[in-house]
Amino acid sequence: DAYLAAIEAANPALNAYVAVTPDKARDMAEASDARIAKGEAGPLEGIPLGIKDLFGTKGVHTQAASHILDGFKPGYESSVTSNLWRDGAVMLGKLNMDEFAMGSSNETSYYGPVVNPWRAKGSDTDLVPGGSSGGSASAVAAWLCAGATATDTGGSIRQPAAFTGTVGIKPTYGRCSRWGVVAFASSLDQAGPIARTVEDAALMMTSMSGFDPKDSTSVDLAVPDFAAAVERGVKGLVIGVPREYRMDGMPQEIEALWQEGLSWLKAEGAEIRDISLPHTKYALPAYYIVAPAEASSNLARYDGVKYGLRVTGKDITDLYEMSRAAGFGREVKRRVMIGTYVLSAGYYDAYYVRAQKVRTLIKRDFEQVFAAGVDAILTPATPSAAFGIGDAAMKADPVKMYLNDIFTVTVNMAGLPGIAVPAGMDGQGLPLGLQLIGKPFDEETLFAAARVIE
Ligand code: GLN
Repeated sequence: DAYLAAIEAANPALNAYVAVTPDKARDMAEASDARIAKGEAGPLEGIPLGIKDLFGTKGVHTQAASHILDGFKPGYESSVTSNLWRDGAVMLGKLNMDEFAMGSSNETSYYGPVVNPWRAKGSDTDLVPGGSSGGSASAVAAWLCAGATATDTGGSIRQPAAFTGTVGIKPTYGRCSRWGVVAFASSLDQAGPIARTVEDAALMMTSMSGFDPKDSTSVDLAVPDFAAAVERGVKGLVIGVPREYRMDGMPQEIEALWQEGLSWLKAEGAEIRDISLPHTKYALPAYYIVAPAEASSNLARYDGVKYGLRVTGKDITDLYEMSRAAGFGREVKRRVMIGTYVLSAGYYDAYYVRAQKVRTLIKRDFEQVFAAGVDAILTPATPSAAFGIGDAAMKADPVKMYLNDIFTVTVNMAGLPGIAVPAGMDGQGLPLGLQLIGKPFDEETLFAAARVIE
């Protein structure tokens, strides 16, 4: 009830929830009470969570913040949310996001932008919470849920976490099932939690993870108790510092924070080592070929016939075209056009095949560094703090918006785990985050190192 009241009070200004489910929340909470009374409490019993609108929730609003899924309520529950309910968590509602998870500011949502609960000192300007999981990050930061599910295709868990002073982890590809989650770029998409602390993120992730025969890319590995790893410390770990992430024009305060983060890890017994990931500079351009290519294929299913919005025309082709024209927003259309272009017969080898080769090189860079004894890599999470809603420079040039992902996309391209942890503030009093990148399926080390930084 306290969370529902907080949502009612704050959501009109923040726009973090696109659907609130009070009846469901109360029913689930009552069932939790009953299990607690019987001594059968699950690990997340009674914990109220917000769910990103990308996760299929049975009988509940699931629109990926798009007009094309107008009125869609799936007849199934995603595996990740099923796992959370199995462990006793309670659903408060569905959270705003960039349309189909395409964006870095939550401004591409059909439901309008989400507001970051943080403000720069002395300013009245509303800031973005980052994207695409902007609703998840804003709701967690403003206490409108105890934790939230999110997804990360190129940074969409870590960048919003960094912009809102919360913790977000993108697990190793294959750790969390993608079944029942609306697909953006299937070879990059991964679900994960956004939470207030490293420990909360670890508790949620333990529940969200696990093998699922319904997702062929889900990995059949035992799920560790991630929360047990949180206090492990970093003594003896080797932390890599990639020189290619020291970008020209990076704000001095981010560079300083990065150094500070390294000094904290060193003080707790970690060894700091300079490393090189030479193909880093190609990651962003390659990502913006691979992700739109997969998106254009995944989004072909929204044709006005099977789901949501239908605009009838003079024949079936007209119906497809009019439904897609009315149903998709500008950024989604841009991605579909880029994707179909790079996959077209004449350009496939020049763009798509090359981007896949680059992807292999990026993955190899990381493999070599880890094989040489590095346990985790520390980088900034984002090249800036949160910016204003409607930022003119980013509006005028989509590539400026894409630069938000410069430190995060390599992790998705390589399928690795990455965590963003709040580490300090800029001169305006806005949160800044650092990112730790880990070996495949070694999220435990990330939780332990992030705990030292938070
Ligand atoms: N900002 C990136 C994009 O727009 C990443 C989005 C995401 O991770 N879902 O593609």
